[in-house]
Amino acid sequence: MYCPSCKHPMIVLEFEKVETDYCTNCEGIWLDSGELELFLEDSAAKEELLNSFSEALTIKEKKRKCPICKKKMNKTFVSSDKDIVIDECKNGHGLWFDKGEILEIIKRGSINKENKIIRVLEDMYRKKTEGK
Ligand SMILES: [Zn+2]
Ligand SMILES: [Zn+2]
Repeated sequence: MYCPSCKHPMIVLEFEKVETDYCTNCEGIWLDSGELELFLEDSAAKEELLNSFSEALTIKEKKRKCPICKKKMNKTFVSSDKDIVIDECKNGHGLWFDKGEILEIIKRGSINKENKIIRVLEDMYRKKTEGK
């Protein structure tokens, strides 16, 4: 699969038994539909986060194509503050997160801000930054 942002081939990265596609060039992550839910603890924060998704019609960012169906994806606001915008396949294939966005989103949807998946993602992004 190719990165919807920079077109580099993506590698499969496994977090907590969930397979994601990761771009080593721009450090974005693709999650198949339903995978984000697996990273969040069952809680009110999770419900709130998942219910906060809304189409970002006002955002003029360049549209990206879904790596699976190649159709242009929607821009979607996450969180009621509308300060994070992700790309969402209209056909329900999944979600694209630019570098660091997934970490921000999982933190908001989790009660424990130091949980395992957050630590793993933080480590991953930290290592990449130090290596430059
Ligand atoms: Zn990329
Ligand atoms: Zn698609």
